[in-house]
Amino acid sequence: MLKGIGASPGIVLGKALVIEDTELVIERKMITDCETEISKLRSAVEVSKEELTKVKEKALAELGEHEAEIFEAHLLVLEDPELVESAVSKINDEKVNAEFALNEIKEMFVSMFESMDNEYMRERAADIKDVTNRVLRHILGVKVVDLADLAEEVVLVAHDLTPSDTATMDKKKVLGFLTDIGGRTSHTAIMSRTLEIAAIVGLNDATKEIKDGDFVVFNGDTGEVIINPDEETISTYTKLKTDFEEYKKALELLKGQATATTDGRHVELAGNIGTPGDVEGLIKNDAEGVGLYRTEFLYMDRSDFPSEEEQYEAYKAVLEGMAGKPIVIRTLDIGGDKKLDYLLMDEEMNPFLGYRAIRLCLDRKEIFITQLRALYRASVHGKLRIMFPMISSLEELLQAKEVCEDVKSQLKAEGIAYSDEVEVGMMIEVPSAAVISDVLAKHVDFFSIGTNDLIQYTCAVDRMNQKISYLYNQFNPAVLRLIKMVIDNAHKEGKWAGMCGESAGDQLMIPILLGFGLDEFSMSPISILPARKLINSLSFEDMKKFSEEVLSLGTAEEIKAYVEKTFNK
Ligand code: PEP
Ligand code: MG
Repeated sequence: MLKGIGASPGIVLGKALVIEDTELVIERKMITDCETEISKLRSAVEVSKEELTKVKEKALAELGEHEAEIFEAHLLVLEDPELVESAVSKINDEKVNAEFALNEIKEMFVSMFESMDNEYMRERAADIKDVTNRVLRHILGVKVVDLADLAEEVVLVAHDLTPSDTATMDKKKVLGFLTDIGGRTSHTAIMSRTLEIAAIVGLNDATKEIKDGDFVVFNGDTGEVIINPDEETISTYTKLKTDFEEYKKALELLKGQATATTDGRHVELAGNIGTPGDVEGLIKNDAEGVGLYRTEFLYMDRSDFPSEEEQYEAYKAVLEGMAGKPIVIRTLDIGGDKKLDYLLMDEEMNPFLGYRAIRLCLDRKEIFITQLRALYRASVHGKLRIMFPMISSLEELLQAKEVCEDVKSQLKAEGIAYSDEVEVGMMIEVPSAAVISDVLAKHVDFFSIGTNDLIQYTCAVDRMNQKISYLYNQFNPAVLRLIKMVIDNAHKEGKWAGMCGESAGDQLMIPILLGFGLDEFSMSPISILPARKLINSLSFEDMKKFSEEVLSLGTAEEIKAYVEKTFNK
């Protein structure tokens, strides 16, 4: 048995297809006929371009614009004369074979990009490697498993899967993925969830332990793989698979339905996104809105700040894409663990307690103003809700709101349209904000509780520190009391309270949050339908009583055990 990180749920039984990373053997050969080598190189480049164009079109049709962009980048690499023409000159000047010349040029560019300060440029090294290896395989005539043309249903086992692998493969024949490397947020993991193909990543030596043709069974939730199982295990997994498929079918039936308790309390089920491309997944999972658009991704992986125009286009795309449903867009939340290469920041002892998010935006107003201008301009395209991250005092909230007013006056003076219906709210992720939420509630339209940070600040536990992760617990009674207090304080002022931290999509937390009176739950797309299924089966009155009982318990452990016992989990 192997154990990895469950990346995409599903129960799979099937035959393994192990994709070997065939090492390309490149030898230096002295040649006399340069023309033959050059034409070998050029025709390999042409074949690769044709392949990439096909892959790009397939990705565009099946996965969307965002996923297709990477192949456009690969095509650009091949069209760049710096690469191919440098290899041609090398063949002519040094009288060497095509594969050797191209490989040398590849290594030169890769090490140049890898040594750059800018993370975005460093990542381009991987693109250059991926695309030149494609050309090299054509020159060398190395056959690779054609994932687009699989003879039978298989479980793909690989060190890792490249974007080209996931884009080209015949999805009907791929039962699941098992990879040696990767975490929950690696490319393969994200793709497996988007494609809804069961997957386990980070298995370390799946490609060593599993042989081509082995029979494997795995659970994409728990991360367990069993190689060549006995009859009993096979029948257990077959039963699990049937149950899972029935569960999925039941979820499908929930699309288009309201999210409401058995006694008629409606709540809003929204999704968290990082880019406009993620809207597709929300629509597929029937999200009722966006509860958190983390705009920092617009600022990352590049060499300068995004312009007002570029931001406007991104916000507009999300507002239009969700066709009038409410969209919470969070203003820049940079700092802490999220850094920008082009924004020089001092080294800090405690970056999570440092110069970040709204603190940075109020200090560097020009950055904040550009973003707010783009947001207000986009507001005419849908139902926009602006949200500030990391507010820790009333002063900060009032200052941020003042900048909004300034921006609106600017736009008005310039004759640029914006909506008057934009709601302005804040995240509750700092305990000081939770404690004065009665005061803050008077000045906002809504709160959205960010438990990811609220837990770390309330319990003084770094959310990234594995060693003390046992202390990072959403069932901590102190955290639960704060959440209850925030929701009550919002309601006293007639405002709504949502949650966009991971806890909002957690099956064990949902009953408690529902009982607390939470109005909006925002989560990753894949958790939406399971959350609707659960909420629609619960009674609000019962959950109110249940959540009161939960609050009377003294430890996180007791609370978790009580929820598990009550809901048979
Ligand atoms: C949170 O802190 O709960 C949150 C949603 O923000 P992030 O995870 O982006 O810090
Ligand atoms: Mg946060």
